[in-house]
Amino acid sequence: MEKEAQPKNIDDLISDFSRFYILTILYEGPAHGYSIISQFKKRVKKEISPSLVYPFLQQLEEKGLVTHTVRPVGEKERKIFELTREGRELCTRLFKRFAQLVAIAIEPSIYICAHCGCKVYDGGYREVIEDKEIAFCCSHCAASFKECKK
Ligand SMILES: [Zn+2]
Repeated sequence: MEKEAQPKNIDDLISDFSRFYILTILYEGPAHGYSIISQFKKRVKKEISPSLVYPFLQQLEEKGLVTHTVRPVGEKERKIFELTREGRELCTRLFKRFAQLVAIAIEPSIYICAHCGCKVYDGGYREVIEDKEIAFCCSHCAASFKECKK
């Protein structure tokens, strides 16, 4: 019943990394526009234009994904943006989808240890056994593998 408010074009809205990242900053807690911009810069090591951030926040607000309250920050009054429950649910869905993408992206780099069967993404150990290069997670698995073959 409550799900019907989900806009159809939400995927267009969050079609690029910058917007996705703004959401992850908001997911961590309420933030004002300027702090979103500075956190983005600090973490992504890239400038983000206020002309992207503010209209995006406004769009999110119009869709009921974000609300704001005006609070004094230092000498200024600032709009503090916060995800609504719907906004948090959207983030959870996006994170799941993003996790799947990451899994797909790293899949070709994953190999399985010929001895213990664990998945290895980085590092690992390779040894040529009977003219074939065989991949293991570590030299101990390679040794056990040779031991088993005897
Ligand atoms: Zn192993």
